[in-house]
Amino acid sequence: MKKEEGKMEKIVSLAKRRGFVYQGSEVWGGLSGMWDFGPLGVTLKNNIKNSWWKKFVDDREDMYGLDAAIIMNSKTWEASGHLKNFTEKLVECSKCNAQFRADQLKENKCAKCGGELKEEQSFNEMFETNVGASKDSSSVAYLRPETAQGIFVNFKNIIDSFHPRLPFGIAQIGKAFRNEINARDFLFRTREFEQMEIEYFFKGEEWEKHFEDWRVSSWEWLNEIGLNKDVVHELDVEDKDRAHYSKKTIDFEYDFPFGRSELFGLAYRTNYDLTNHKLDYLDDREGERFIPHVIEPSFGVDRIVFALLNEAYTEDELGGEERVYLKFKPNLAPVKVAVFPLLKNKPELVAKAREVFEIVRKEIPQTMFDDNGNIGKRYRRQDEIGTPNCITIDFDTLEDDTVTLRDRDTGEQKRIKIEDIVSSISI
Ligand code: ATP
Repeated sequence: MKKEEGKMEKIVSLAKRRGFVYQGSEVWGGLSGMWDFGPLGVTLKNNIKNSWWKKFVDDREDMYGLDAAIIMNSKTWEASGHLKNFTEKLVECSKCNAQFRADQLKENKCAKCGGELKEEQSFNEMFETNVGASKDSSSVAYLRPETAQGIFVNFKNIIDSFHPRLPFGIAQIGKAFRNEINARDFLFRTREFEQMEIEYFFKGEEWEKHFEDWRVSSWEWLNEIGLNKDVVHELDVEDKDRAHYSKKTIDFEYDFPFGRSELFGLAYRTNYDLTNHKLDYLDDREGERFIPHVIEPSFGVDRIVFALLNEAYTEDELGGEERVYLKFKPNLAPVKVAVFPLLKNKPELVAKAREVFEIVRKEIPQTMFDDNGNIGKRYRRQDEIGTPNCITIDFDTLEDDTVTLRDRDTGEQKRIKIEDIVSSISI
């Protein structure tokens, strides 16, 4: 794996300039570990989430969707073990008071000033808040550090409403919060992020088969969004590094610009959670009551956005000019088609371009109209946001109803009929 000098800065800067990702609360000096998604970032995230939901929920018969509340009864976190175990070892410098996660320090001294470190403490990463007007121990609540517990506590509700037979799964996409000791590396380690999680329930003795099935379908989805085996690597997590609930975990690691790190995890959580929530399953055919086990694929949306921006970022030369473009797979690109009039000050061209824009937009909602600046500038702007198809309306269009279609990656242009636009483009 190679670290690419300066690539991180280039991605962060493009993401800001072009409206993908902004620093959270920037006008007030920012807030560490928080990022805001701009218009293109929201669409990119939605495209990722929709593709995931389609593959793992809509296209299957054994999956149920859920959207549980972020704040849950605190007994949930006692039962799940998070109150006791969701901790990191915190060390503080006795000289400059900088704080670090002990496992991320290379040496036993302050990484900022070289000063001596105070004694290690345990730090629980859950954000605490109070529910209701009184602030006492009975009102304490936590922002969920994982969406999974919302799934476990609804296990019985889903069974009562739908009577699914094992194996089946529950999927949820939603925000999670962790008060990370050192938020860093752009979208990689943030304090507020989004997870796409599945708990897949089955009889305990079948765990190896289901683990393998989820490993394979996780790869299928990664390939669909353009992340393949050249850049994502499996790491079998050792006993000592696994979460408190897991018996086997594979971390799928990606070559981020700062180094190889976890993109998402696949864990066998046994029946640890359902046991602690005192929930079980009645197999009415066999007349048998037992506690199902689970496999959990847990994807972080923000880390996937980061990986996709990094994968897509390309610098090349086109027509003798240097350019930057995002090589998104068309299904993920936030803008799929851009429609331009060749000249902005010719009302007949603008009117025709608007007409074409409306035709295309009906079929492909992520279509954009752009008449700002000259045509070369518009192409460069669309390249920079990863638009795979640009359509230009010129004087010939007015004569014969043809337009030019330009391909983002090669810059090649061809003439096609307006009626063939939708069938000719990649989306
Ligand atoms: P790490 O070891 O990097 O802290 P983790 O093993 O604690 O991660 P999990 O608890 O397995 O992470 O969380 C599942 C997924 O949620 C991760 O694979 C990642 O995609 C995402 N995630 C976890 N923590 C963060 C974070 N602080 N910022 C962004 N995404 C995160």
